[in-house]
Amino acid sequence: MGGQEGGRKSKIRKRERKQRTGKKHLTVKPNSIYKVEGGKLIRNRKTCPRCGDGTFLAHHKDRYYCGRCGYTVFEKKQTQ
Ligand SMILES: [Zn+2]
Repeated sequence: MGGQEGGRKSKIRKRERKQRTGKKHLTVKPNSIYKVEGGKLIRNRKTCPRCGDGTFLAHHKDRYYCGRCGYTVFEKKQTQ
C-alpha cells in the first residue's frame, strides 16, 4: 500500500579543499624601506603625518594610503 518512497537522498558533499597559497602575509622588510647613503638615513617610503614616522603609506596607483588612520595622499601630477 503505497510503499513507494522516493528515496532519493542527494547527499551534497562538501569538499573542503585546503588550498595552500605560497604567499603568506607579506611583511615589509626594513631594507626596502630604509636606505643609508653616506651616513644619512633615507626613507624610500612616504610616512604618515598623522601616525608619525613609524607608519608608512601604502602606495597605490595614484595615491598613498595609510592603513592605520586612513590618511590618503594623492600624488601630484607633475605637468610641465
Ligand atoms: Zn596614519
